[in-house]
Amino acid sequence: MVSLLARTLQTIGKVSLATTIGIGLLAGDVLAQQAAPSPGSAKAVFGAVTLPTAGPSHSIGFYAKGCLAGAVALPADGPTWQAMRLSRNRRWGRPEMIGLLERLARDAAKNDGWPGLLVGDISQPRGGPMFNGHASHQIGLDADVWLTPMPRHKLSTADREALPFTSMLAKDKFLTINDKVWTPAHARLLMRAASYPEVERIFINPAIKKKMCDSWTGDRSNLGKLRPEYGHDSHFHIRLRCPPGSEGCTGQAPVAAGDGCDKTLAWWLGPEPWAKPKPSTKPPVKPREVMVSDLPKACGAVLAAPAAASARAATSAAKPADAALETEAMPVSGNTPPGNIPQQ
Ligand SMILES: [Zn+2]
Repeated sequence: MVSLLARTLQTIGKVSLATTIGIGLLAGDVLAQQAAPSPGSAKAVFGAVTLPTAGPSHSIGFYAKGCLAGAVALPADGPTWQAMRLSRNRRWGRPEMIGLLERLARDAAKNDGWPGLLVGDISQPRGGPMFNGHASHQIGLDADVWLTPMPRHKLSTADREALPFTSMLAKDKFLTINDKVWTPAHARLLMRAASYPEVERIFINPAIKKKMCDSWTGDRSNLGKLRPEYGHDSHFHIRLRCPPGSEGCTGQAPVAAGDGCDKTLAWWLGPEPWAKPKPSTKPPVKPREVMVSDLPKACGAVLAAPAAASARAATSAAKPADAALETEAMPVSGNTPPGNIPQQ
């Protein structure tokens, strides 16, 4: 993601520092301004598929270069979640990812004073690169969750398209948390997400990581899973490790030991990641588009495989509201008391 950002910034050229920071904040996960993909490119081909393959679930390749077979969809509504931006058709993931989101939604509502999740993009029906928004999310093991708590009412389809993101950062201040929107419940939600062994990393804005480093008084053994990254100031990004036995799924090195409140964070808080790129003497090179043939070979077969009978048939069975609150979860909080339920 960082090299993608660097390339993007190089091609942008003459921008003010403020604009550079603005773009930087977008670029980690949400590169909003991208050219339409060419017909036949992997982005165009995978973006046009509306249903997953039938059969067992496989993640093929790497988070940022791969595809997904046998995806299941997160139901648009659950007892403690609502999926957003339904028109994108990106509610698809590995069953493990969908199950994790349902569990996080339930545990956070029961234990952490977080009323429910607004779930953003997971993956396309057969994974693969997306024409906008993400470098990763290609193999059904990445999911974005809003840092806006779920409202009490059911959002209409139109509201789910239009509801604006709320940044946790103060406007006009460099990498500073806005304490009018950030609450202890946000911190508990992040640590709840990090508490699951199958969660390998969580990408969040460097300012949020700093806030967690400075304020989290509970068990810090999972704090190192929170990784500073550009953007991620209005949502966080959950990445699962390759599930056991998933042949063809290329994992990532585990995070370093420790809480990550160290020089790696200090780098993010310094000027270097946000510096204006030096003007290049060479003309900007347009990066070559990724074609299906650039992805792992098995992704061609995923595209050709028969589809599931319907989206409904491939949607995870939502649990009834009462059953959803039955299982026990361990507390994650330190001295941050329950309550402080953010309302928006
Ligand atoms: Zn993401």
